Amino acid sequence: MAAHKLGVIFRNPSNDAEFLLYRQPRPPKFEEGEDYDLYSDSDLWDLPSTAELNPIAAGVVEPPILVQGVELCSEKIDLRQFDLNSALISVMGRVGLGVADLGDWKFFKCVEEAEFGPGPPINFAFVEAKLLDKNTILREHCKWMSIHTCREWLVNVKPGGVRVGLLAVIGLINESTEPTKFQVPSTLRFQEYPPGVVVIPMRSKTAKPFHTTNLVVFAPENDSGECKDGSFVASGDALIVDPGCRSESLEELREIVAALPRRLIVFATHHHRDHINGLSVIQKTNPDAILLAHKNTMSHIHKDDWNSAYTFVSGSEDICVGGQRLSIIFAPGHTDGHLALLHNSTRSLIVGDHCVGQGSAFLDLYSGASMADYFKTTYKFMELSPHALIPMHGRVSFWPKHMLCGYLKNRRSREKSILRAIERGAETLFEIVVKAYSRIDHSYWIPASWNVKLHVDHLALLDKLPKCFSIERFNRSLGSFAAELDKFEAKSSL
Ligand SMILES: [Zn+2]
Repeated sequence: MAAHKLGVIFRNPSNDAEFLLYRQPRPPKFEEGEDYDLYSDSDLWDLPSTAELNPIAAGVVEPPILVQGVELCSEKIDLRQFDLNSALISVMGRVGLGVADLGDWKFFKCVEEAEFGPGPPINFAFVEAKLLDKNTILREHCKWMSIHTCREWLVNVKPGGVRVGLLAVIGLINESTEPTKFQVPSTLRFQEYPPGVVVIPMRSKTAKPFHTTNLVVFAPENDSGECKDGSFVASGDALIVDPGCRSESLEELREIVAALPRRLIVFATHHHRDHINGLSVIQKTNPDAILLAHKNTMSHIHKDDWNSAYTFVSGSEDICVGGQRLSIIFAPGHTDGHLALLHNSTRSLIVGDHCVGQGSAFLDLYSGASMADYFKTTYKFMELSPHALIPMHGRVSFWPKHMLCGYLKNRRSREKSILRAIERGAETLFEIVVKAYSRIDHSYWIPASWNVKLHVDHLALLDKLPKCFSIERFNRSLGSFAAELDKFEAKSSL
């Protein structure tokens, strides 16, 4: 069952082209010290909205605000089933307006969210109304805005500049953009945020709780002239990042590639199957496509997946796609060949598996993962001041620095609990997992054990382990982890 959210477009009575944007409340600050306060995201402005649109409760007698055209929403969403009245009153309250201030209520559009997961998608309903009095003074956290200025804020970004949120983009801005020549197959849902950055969650064999891998596609229509100096490692008319879908979705991937220009760059953030599974289909559909990957990633990619042109990249290069510049960022931690990609004009940062939309990312112990690298990469990402952070699993993050600080905080707190377990006498990998992950479902203990190994290595590097702890004994215990977990599970199922 999908969740529902309402966005409202309040029109300026003096200028029909302007609508009201509302400065979004910031996520709560972290309580602990560290250096998190040094990293703060710039202001985010978006349409006023409700977090949730609830079904109509029985016996509601409030006089409804009459919204013309709600029956037009979509085949799948019947807005008449929802308590639009309470939701509208709550949105008006948020921006300091009342029922008497507004008129001409109309349904605007509905947008069904793509399947980012892990939970059900969110359906967005948009309604518009006109402010009646030209002399109304707006509250401090509200401002009138035009589509043109919004687009400028989104696609000609200055690091640290103000930002525009998702609802304004999917509700209004995308509507006003010329339809691109590149069409996503009608069987797939996608999200275009910021304008020009298309994210398509493709069904993939990925780790739970996710079931999709985000395929990111750039196919700019107009050359913005960012690549004039020629200092880039590859150029093309389109870019596709992490084609890692399941075999059932390969036909849709083929359709996407067939719809893209011939001069295609394929970028792999790293080698996990749920990121590269569709490479062979791309190669068959477009033998001229070139693959960019780190050499440590390329060493895991088989000839059956890709045997045509490729270029090693290390993370200090730029690429040019349809006249737009993207910077490759070396981002080890998840694996030793892991790369991220920064789209310069929108400052969208594609972070591979460094972060996921919800929960925490695991690190691949068997592919050169390192906790020290993970911390360094996280700080590197924050220094880039991204305006949006695009993970390969889950939703785009609109509070990138806050999300990255959250990752640092969680890793530090996990490292502390591992150190505490060791100080309380845990000596083997299994003993530490049992103590430090006691509140986590056993089915996550195998990837958790990889994290423990990486945290212990990190603690050793920082010289924080107690003198009595034997790293040799700990390392000898790695091999018996699976057998001990089996024994533990058999005992707990009795
Ligand atoms: Zn991965």
